[in-house]
Amino acid sequence: MKRKIIITYNSYDRSIRTAKILRTKLISAGFEVLEKPDPEAELFIAIGGDGSFLKTLHDYDFPEVPIIGINTGHLGFFQEIMPPQIDNFIDAYINKRYTIQEIHPIEALICTRTSCVELQAINEFVVKGDKSRTIHLNLSVNTNFIECFSGDGVILSTPTGSTAYNYSSGGSIVDPSLKLIQVTPLSPINTNAYRSFTSSIILPSDAIVKISPEYRFEDSLVFVTDGIEHRYDQIVDLTFQTSTINIKLLRLGGYEFWSKVTEKFL
Ligand code: NAP
Repeated sequence: MKRKIIITYNSYDRSIRTAKILRTKLISAGFEVLEKPDPEAELFIAIGGDGSFLKTLHDYDFPEVPIIGINTGHLGFFQEIMPPQIDNFIDAYINKRYTIQEIHPIEALICTRTSCVELQAINEFVVKGDKSRTIHLNLSVNTNFIECFSGDGVILSTPTGSTAYNYSSGGSIVDPSLKLIQVTPLSPINTNAYRSFTSSIILPSDAIVKISPEYRFEDSLVFVTDGIEHRYDQIVDLTFQTSTINIKLLRLGGYEFWSKVTEKFL
C-alpha cells in the first residue's frame, strides 16, 4: 500500500501552482496524495502562509500526524520550506532527516448562563470588547484573584503564538523550549480610576486562568481564536489552560528558532 500524504493550499495562484508541482513530485516519489481527511495519512503539507497553516490544523481538528508548511504567503513563520526546496524536502523526508517539534495549543472553556463550549487555539485567544468599548475583566490564576483588567482586552498566548499578535502588542518572544502561558494586555488602563497591569504576565504551563466579565459586559465580548471571531451571549466565565493536544511540527535539519526570529523580524 502506498504511503499517504494530505496536502492543503489556499486559493492564491502561487499556492495552486506549488500544490501542482508538489503533487507530481510526491507521486513520482511513490506517495499517494490526498486533499481530504484519511486516517491512514502519515503527513500534512500546508501550502500558503501562516494563516493557511493555522487553518489546516483547525480544519482537520488538530491531526496527530506531523505537519510541515511550504511558504507561498507573506511572513511564513510556521512554514519550513520555500517552493524551490521541494526536491530537498522530499529527499530529507524519505531519508528521515528531520526532527519533530511538539507544541500544545491553549484550550478555553467558555461558559454562558446556559451551556459551555470548548475551543482550542494554536497561537492565541483574544478576549476583547465588542463595538470598540472598554471592557472590565476579573482575572484569576488557580483561583487566586490577580486583577480587574480594564482596557481593550487581553491576549492569552502559547509560546508558539508569542511571535504573532502577542509580539505586536508588546508581549515577549518565547523560546519554544519553554512551556508557559503569556497573558498580554491590549491597551490597559492604568489610572486613578482603573488599575491594570501594563505588561504581560507569564504563567507556568499548568496554570488555570479564569476570566469573568463584569455583569454589564457579558454580552459585549468578542472572542478570537487564531484570527477567527466567536460571539456568545450571556458569558459567565472563561477558563484557559494548556491543552493536552499534541501537535507535531516536522522540522528539517538546520531549523533554529532564534535564527528564524532574526531573519523574519529584524
Ligand atoms: P493573518 O493575516 O493570517 O496573520 C497576520 C500576520 O501574522 C501574518 O503576517 C501572519 O503570517 C502572521 N503570523 C501568524 N501566526 C504567526 C506566528 N505564530 N508567528 C509570527 N507571525 C505569525 O491574520 P488573521 O487571519 O487575522 O489571524 C491569524 C493570526 O494573525 C492570529 O493568530 C494572530 O496571531 C495574528 N494577528 C496579528 C495581529 C497583529 O499583529 N496586530 C492582529 C490580528 C491577528 P503570514 O503572512 O505568513 O500569513
